[in-house]
Amino acid sequence: MTDVRRQLPAVNLLLADADSLGLTRRASRAVVVDAIRDALAEARARGGIEPDGGWMREIVRHVEARNRRSLVRVVNATGVVLHTNLGRAPLAAAAIDAMVDAAAYSALEYDLDAGGRGSRQRHVQGLIAELTHAEDAIVVNNAAAALYLALQALAAPGETIVSRGELVEIGGGFRIPEIVAACGTVLVEVGTTNRTRLHDYEAALTARTRCLLKVHRSNFRITGFTSEATVADLVGLARPRALPVVHDVGSGLLVDLRDVGLTGEPLVGDSVRAGAVTVFSGDKLLGGPQAGIATGPLAAIAALHQHPLARVLRADKTTLAALEATLHLYRDPGRARREIPVLAMLTAEPATLDRRARELASMLPDAVTRAGTSAVGGGTFPDAGLPTTLVALAHEAPDALLASLRRHDPPVIARAGDGCVLIDVRTLRDEELPLVANAVAAARGH
Ligand SMILES: *Cc1c(COP(=O)(O)O)cnc(C)c1O
Repeated sequence: MTDVRRQLPAVNLLLADADSLGLTRRASRAVVVDAIRDALAEARARGGIEPDGGWMREIVRHVEARNRRSLVRVVNATGVVLHTNLGRAPLAAAAIDAMVDAAAYSALEYDLDAGGRGSRQRHVQGLIAELTHAEDAIVVNNAAAALYLALQALAAPGETIVSRGELVEIGGGFRIPEIVAACGTVLVEVGTTNRTRLHDYEAALTARTRCLLKVHRSNFRITGFTSEATVADLVGLARPRALPVVHDVGSGLLVDLRDVGLTGEPLVGDSVRAGAVTVFSGDKLLGGPQAGIATGPLAAIAALHQHPLARVLRADKTTLAALEATLHLYRDPGRARREIPVLAMLTAEPATLDRRARELASMLPDAVTRAGTSAVGGGTFPDAGLPTTLVALAHEAPDALLASLRRHDPPVIARAGDGCVLIDVRTLRDEELPLVANAVAAARGH
């Protein structure tokens, strides 16, 4: 057998050619060398065969690929509203404007009235307190960080009592027993998987108890012979003993969505009103940027503000700007539903989705519409199937068509089912329909 590497040109030779074509003036020398190595590696994988269009065309393609940003916008045609892999909540226009504005110099920690230092938290602190009926609030990087800070500040090095039915894994390596341990607090498990009563918590109280923790199960349900203590029950038990109750509600639902059939997610305000330190995400049902919020009684939140970890976990200026703008929209619940994309998508009328699907289908030869269901995603409302209208494209190789759609600029992410590519219009904006139609036409042309 001959060694295929011998048949391939040397890097230096290709570099000299690239140089004479001016490629090293358009991209850095290091990038061109890497691109040459990429092209050679591909040729080697093909068995040492020279690329069809010649070496230089291949090298230019690799230079372009290496210079392209990878964190690019994509079109979400999956119908999964809080798609974790696609960045969870798409932001409201007002939030995007605020992020851009704050990206320059901003009043992040500057008090414009006093002309001196201010707190970065003050941009969101009052708004969160107002909207959740709490005394105070703090914002950090994500809900996992908010829970970590709360347990470090309120529970370590004592004992934290948690129901066995709530020792959950949320996804992305977030496991309650591991978080509790990493916070330097001792996990005390009570009850059983399906039933935990208030008495179980009471029986577990010791002189070392520092906190009662309740966790929303988010991504799964326990049904049948079940019972659990409410957060109000836990506060009733904890308050006379001057113990805090921390409630990780996960998704940050600020408005009731029962009217569109979405039930089972705790409302932040209910938990705060019951008296718990309530922890939730900014980029799930709240519909804002990645952030973690803890809101509740003044003394407990003050302990979080003062803890050294608050500095370690602090949110940046663009996050705080987007969160402030999103929270402003919540002051008018009707406006929040219209302008916060997550809420608008979840509450979209079936007739609106049907019209949007027909419009897209009319732009595509041989497309048909059919009834389907969309998911909320992000581990929220796991049982909810939202009725939607799909655009179905019959294709002999749906996976190949999906791959072509992913290579489009911007990439279009859809799913396959029943030998078709399925496009769910719930997560598309009307302005995106021509773009999706173009992407499909281009992908079918391949
Ligand atoms: C999603 C979730 C988290 C983690 O939220 P992040 O903002 O992603 O850190 C924590 N707890 C619960 C109950 C959740 O649903």
